[in-house]
Amino acid sequence: MQSRRGDDGPDEKSWQHLANCLGVDPDLFFPERGASTREAKEVCRGCVVRQDCLEYALAHGEKFGIWGGMSERERRRVRRARAHGATGQSNGAASA
Ligand code: SF4
Repeated sequence: MQSRRGDDGPDEKSWQHLANCLGVDPDLFFPERGASTREAKEVCRGCVVRQDCLEYALAHGEKFGIWGGMSERERRRVRRARAHGATGQSNGAASA
């Protein structure tokens, strides 16, 4: 998701050139409240850097948009699960 991120340094962005969403309208990943996230998640589904993207969003506390195939609410669930000692991968983000 290179097109919607700032310049975070070379290490932070090393995976982004493989992103499935390169060239995709960034608005798709930031739907209006209540709008469908299905299309964005479809793009993420086949993304080889999905896990990197998700971890980036979790590490940076991204509050908006679809990252790693997960909505803000789904990421919050992962953060909570991890905080409680679970793996937090039960929402399909790690499965291809
Ligand atoms: S997981 Fe989705 S948002 Fe993240 S880089 Fe891949 S296609 Fe883009």
